[in-house]
Amino acid sequence: MNCPHCGAQLTSLEINTTDDQVTSIEECLNCGGHVLPPILANFISTNSAKNIDSVLPKATSLPSHEPTCQHCHQHMIAIKDDSVPNNVTVFACPNNHQEFYPKDQLLKFKKAQDAKINYHKLWGIPIKSAFAVLVPVVIIFAAITVIPNTLQMSQTSQEARVKASEILTQPLITPISSTQVLISFSTKNAVKTSIKFTSGQDKTFEVSSEPGTNHLLSVSDLEPQTTYKYIIQIITSDKTLNTTEYFFTTP
Ligand SMILES: [Zn+2]
Ligand SMILES: [Zn+2]
Repeated sequence: MNCPHCGAQLTSLEINTTDDQVTSIEECLNCGGHVLPPILANFISTNSAKNIDSVLPKATSLPSHEPTCQHCHQHMIAIKDDSVPNNVTVFACPNNHQEFYPKDQLLKFKKAQDAKINYHKLWGIPIKSAFAVLVPVVIIFAAITVIPNTLQMSQTSQEARVKASEILTQPLITPISSTQVLISFSTKNAVKTSIKFTSGQDKTFEVSSEPGTNHLLSVSDLEPQTTYKYIIQIITSDKTLNTTEYFFTTP
């Protein structure tokens, strides 16, 4: 694959994510930019971002045109919302194929994200919306079309053994403080959802009371350094699907 920005051949780079996966991103040794799958920037530590952005580009100047998605050849668009500071540039494919971080922008974005989360931790101000800190979440939520449409099948199938986990993204946990986390995930189809804790506390939270595809729950009053287990319940018109168990540990 070629660089969306300068057209040079890309090099694969293996990285470790914060949820203990090994995955690869594409690096441009010419302009120093990086191509990431839409969901990934939220799962990279600031330290990894520092290593990733330590590449020394050969090119001395950046192209003035916008990058072009290497899958659909559409112009990528600079993300402009609360989660990306004005001095940071993150490009996203309008069809959610990929994101492009020009040289140093991934590290700048991670630092800005850390600063914002730390601000809320320090002042004890709850973050109302994950969209304020997780840049590509908006993109992630739109990117779900790659997940097979199994919910429809489950409604007609006699066995209905389909796992709910096949129709939603891996939940993204964002610790805001030692007692508050944000849990966000998305579903392929518009559904109602709730989260039922199975360990750590005995509560069920309604997440989306109206059918939707983007689901966000802020859970407060948690115990520090405690592991919580939960399942997500996907509620359709005629049945409730339970996912397998997920867990997180508060800081
Ligand atoms: Zn390049
Ligand atoms: Zn594209």
